[in-house]
Amino acid sequence: MNQNRVDEYRRNFMTALGGVAAVAAVAPSFVLQTAHAAGEVAAKPADQAVTDAKRWGMLIDVTKLTDGGAAMVAACKKEHGWGDEAHSDATQKAHWARVVKVTDKLTQNSFSLPVMCQHCENPPCVDVCPTGASMKRADGIVQVNKHTCIGCRYCMMACPYKARSFVHEHLVDQKAHSPRGIGTVESCNMCVHRVDNGQLPACVEAAPDAVTFGDLNDPNSTLSQTLKAIGGKQIRADLGLNTGVRYHGI
Ligand code: SF4
Ligand code: SF4
Repeated sequence: MNQNRVDEYRRNFMTALGGVAAVAAVAPSFVLQTAHAAGEVAAKPADQAVTDAKRWGMLIDVTKLTDGGAAMVAACKKEHGWGDEAHSDATQKAHWARVVKVTDKLTQNSFSLPVMCQHCENPPCVDVCPTGASMKRADGIVQVNKHTCIGCRYCMMACPYKARSFVHEHLVDQKAHSPRGIGTVESCNMCVHRVDNGQLPACVEAAPDAVTFGDLNDPNSTLSQTLKAIGGKQIRADLGLNTGVRYHGI
């Protein structure tokens, strides 16, 4: 069974069907439909505030990414409509997520991994923002409020992961759920519009065998259980930011 199902999905679904054996016999397409109907990522009612009961995160198993994460980046781009800025040069284009190649200096062993906002528990990008536009939700999702961002780019300098980019030009044909504006900063928002709607982030759906999304606060979530089983590291854990994105195989 695919492990890339969020949070209580697995337990809810197992309960609904009466056990593991029943789950194993069900076709994958039916699993997904039922998972959503059961509220694997419970859709958040619009009139309810986000709480810190959950902390969303993901585990990326680099050893199972056959393309280094290119499909994840492509899915993000498609979902949010970034990367085709017509009048920006290569260094100015948006990069909500990007594939980074890492080479061990001693062994020359190389691998690639997708890097996006790591959704730090202690995010320096939030600390330095003078307007509060760079903010962390109670459930751990870090994002930028485009309406109050003044484009000072302090957050871009503060982010050790180079996860943020700046919109240099007027944009057209934007996605309704991802408004983008010239003169503002942007980054991965963990597909908050999808998560609040009970769906997986687009990049997670694009790499279902390699990425597990879920609740880091719940020791019984599939994410926590997978972390426990195979382990996961933070990039630059020494910085003490306690990232919500973890990697296996780095
Ligand atoms: S990765 Fe960068 S942009 Fe994301 S929360 Fe951490 S400091 Fe902020
Ligand atoms: S969670 Fe959403 S916004 Fe973040 S990298 Fe994945 S697709 Fe992009």
